[in-house]
Amino acid sequence: MCGIVGGVANNNITPLLLEGLKRLEYRGYDSSGLIVLSKNNTFNRARSVGKVQNLQNNLKTRKHKIIGNIGIAHTRWATHGEPSNNNAHPHISKNSVSVVHNGIIENYIELKALQLKQGYEFSSETDSEVIAHAVDLAMQSCNTLLSSVQKAIKSLKGSYGLGIISSKQPDIIIAARSGSPLVIGLGEHGNYIASDQMA
Ligand code: GLU
Repeated sequence: MCGIVGGVANNNITPLLLEGLKRLEYRGYDSSGLIVLSKNNTFNRARSVGKVQNLQNNLKTRKHKIIGNIGIAHTRWATHGEPSNNNAHPHISKNSVSVVHNGIIENYIELKALQLKQGYEFSSETDSEVIAHAVDLAMQSCNTLLSSVQKAIKSLKGSYGLGIISSKQPDIIIAARSGSPLVIGLGEHGNYIASDQMA
């Protein structure tokens, strides 16, 4: 079982995401990644195959540091698509929506076929990427990220724990789960989501 951690806080969220990922390592995984919305509402993402330490080294060697108050992170145990940077989460749809997913989307082949017709491009072989596109599509007819996620998850069959953020509503994380664990932590300086209390 792999993991999710996310947070929206008063201070820089990146160190907390990394710490959360380390605390989830015991669950097993093959790759990891994180994404943070920067102050100008653009996504900054880092992904690495192997240990969370590789992700940490990747972050250390960057010229432009990944800094922001809201972000989501993931340790992946591949079910669809090999362990690789492109298949590692978070996934992004149209620079608008980013998703981390634990679980399996059983009807992803049907959803993918439909989304390809709707003009969405895929950059991974995962079942999870369809979730990002489904939320982006729903955002075109819904007012908020919450209502968009509520609409999008109706199309999903399978199991999921989800953390979702959007550059169009940059102060909120949406969490959803069905058949995969997810906990919410409310704090004085921020609110958090994770696959378990350890993180
Ligand atoms: N099925 C997804 C994938 O292969 C998520 C796997 C997981 O739960 O880490 O990317």
